[in-house]
Amino acid sequence: MIRIKRAPLPRAALTLMAGHTGDISQASVPKQRAKQLWKNTTVRRQIHPVLRSTLAKMAPGLERCMYCGDNQGTDIDHFEPVRINPLRTFDWHNHLLACSLCNSHLKRDLFPLAKDGSPLLIDPSSDDPAPHLHLSLAAGEYVHLTDRGEATIKVFGLNRSILVRGRRRAYRATPPLLDRWLNAFEKGDMEDAADWASVVWEQPTADVVLAMFHQALVPGAEDIFADESETLALLRDPVIRTGLLGTC
Ligand SMILES: [Zn+2]
Repeated sequence: MIRIKRAPLPRAALTLMAGHTGDISQASVPKQRAKQLWKNTTVRRQIHPVLRSTLAKMAPGLERCMYCGDNQGTDIDHFEPVRINPLRTFDWHNHLLACSLCNSHLKRDLFPLAKDGSPLLIDPSSDDPAPHLHLSLAAGEYVHLTDRGEATIKVFGLNRSILVRGRRRAYRATPPLLDRWLNAFEKGDMEDAADWASVVWEQPTADVVLAMFHQALVPGAEDIFADESETLALLRDPVIRTGLLGTC
């Protein structure tokens, strides 16, 4: 799971959405009205496309799911489910792009809360997942660091076998891609370098690439990348870090 930067929504869409929220707040059964409005044909035509296209631009890689990072994000997910808080049905900060597996089969209306009533699930558009989730690169599995990390792994099935396999592949595939980017950059072929940068970041499970860059600098990195000194050197190379990560 990667932290997502939320983009602004056009004012016209925000105005329409505020109107619908007002409508829901005055309804005798807000949950029912919220569901009705969300499925309304005009609403689907006026609001859903702009939500979907803005979320797609924010999503990691090639419009990947903001939760699992692997499948295409096809659904507009209400982070806080409509059933629990109908007044957030048209709240832009409650919308995330999810694959149908994460949205409809795994998360559904689940929204576990901590004892103090705060949400346990990580919203990657407002929470940094890093303090809650550690990605074990060799295993391809997430390890929880907090209760929130544990609930997030469980609800979204973040260690389902196909994701674990994909992450292991990305871990193997990434070092040669970094090498190709560096070669193109050093030759001054910026078009080719930009292509390789896209290949690096548009992989499914791009969370692996981010974790590799992060873990290359932590104490004990030599143990994490044992027998992979060339990979570690690439990940620590300031030219690569500046060019691909925007920081060294
Ligand atoms: Zn997903």
